[in-house]
Amino acid sequence: MDIFDKYAPLLERFQAATSGGKNPFGVCLEDIYSATEAKVDGRRTILLGTNNYLGLTFNEDCIAAATEMLKSHGTGTTGSRIANGSYAEHEALEKSIAEYLNRKSAIVFSTGYQANFGVIVGLAGPKDVIFLDADSHASIYDGCKLSGATLIRFRHNDTEDLDKRMSRFADFEGCKLVVTEGLYSMLGDTAPLKEFVEVKKKHGGWLLVDEAHSFGMYGDHGRGAAEHYGVEKDVDFVAGTFSKSLGAIGGFGASDHPMFDVLRFASRPYMFTASPSPASIASVHAALDCMRKDPSLRTRIWENARHLFQGLKDAGFEVISELSPIVAVRMPDEATAVAFWNRLLENGIYVNLAVPPGTPKGVCLMRCSVSSAHEARQIDDAIDAFVRTRSEVFSDEEVAATAS
Ligand code: PMP
Repeated sequence: MDIFDKYAPLLERFQAATSGGKNPFGVCLEDIYSATEAKVDGRRTILLGTNNYLGLTFNEDCIAAATEMLKSHGTGTTGSRIANGSYAEHEALEKSIAEYLNRKSAIVFSTGYQANFGVIVGLAGPKDVIFLDADSHASIYDGCKLSGATLIRFRHNDTEDLDKRMSRFADFEGCKLVVTEGLYSMLGDTAPLKEFVEVKKKHGGWLLVDEAHSFGMYGDHGRGAAEHYGVEKDVDFVAGTFSKSLGAIGGFGASDHPMFDVLRFASRPYMFTASPSPASIASVHAALDCMRKDPSLRTRIWENARHLFQGLKDAGFEVISELSPIVAVRMPDEATAVAFWNRLLENGIYVNLAVPPGTPKGVCLMRCSVSSAHEARQIDDAIDAFVRTRSEVFSDEEVAATAS
């Protein structure tokens, strides 16, 4: 038996997805022109599926800060902070993140994946129970599994279900940790955090919110969904990433708990990996300053979100996301989704092909995400390309049934 035999069903599905087109999971950006445009297959392509929410990857201040740091501090740290020490910049960024979030402490991790993973395995152990939203990101699931805690999944964004499941643990002796995301990346829906806070208080639990997709866009100051819903004081732990609105790589955990920093000596995903590179830390720090100083970044992304959301709806597409920087267009099945995605790319628009198991409820999607850096004409071009692609991929009857 070959050790790779177990992947036969996966390969079969992959081959079906790639036959007659590009590999949707292996697109090469041959050149990057800006936060919103790149060269793909030799063509200038509008990027509408990047998570570059605030468009800061080409921000002059971020680039200058990273370049300077690269020259003065070198290319990498070559080790973890507990073994090789912290750079002053790691500590300075942690201080700034804590200040920005009004939290007592923040810990920087090397990726957003590790931030969730590390905070969860640091907080929960085999004697605890974790209640996690069924649609949680892989980093949350993986952290939960490695923690050894009892895992209880509750229905996505369902307060009653969470309440019911927590009630069954009334006599449980360990700690109860509820884990949710602020904004869900596929359907752009926010967690009902006010209600979740009530439930966790009622059952004496702790609440961790992953603000990966909401940090920078939600709340008056961009602190995320917890700020948006006015419940920051009742959210015990926040996790986030530097790879989306902050345009770099890395992640963070933050809390008011006086013991939070013990995770630096207890959380394996923090302890056993190299710390983020100085250049990355510097660009994140500059991006955080931009977020703080320039509220127009938020105004613009919401304008663009409305533009794309309404434009695709008006054109008759089945937009199943809530109004958010994530705009999800439903496709009837996987084969059509693959064909549509390919054609859309040929028509100059890159979006994310999202299919099960990466999507909730088994839906197939063209998952778009807007950026503050998109210009209105790029959004118009994208809507036009969606309409053209529909006429090329769908039959006349299907077009007649959907188009307005
Ligand atoms: N949390 C959520 C909800 C995510 O969607 C992602 C990445 N897509 C992560 C965490 C991990 O972040 P990173 O890619 O920065 O490791």
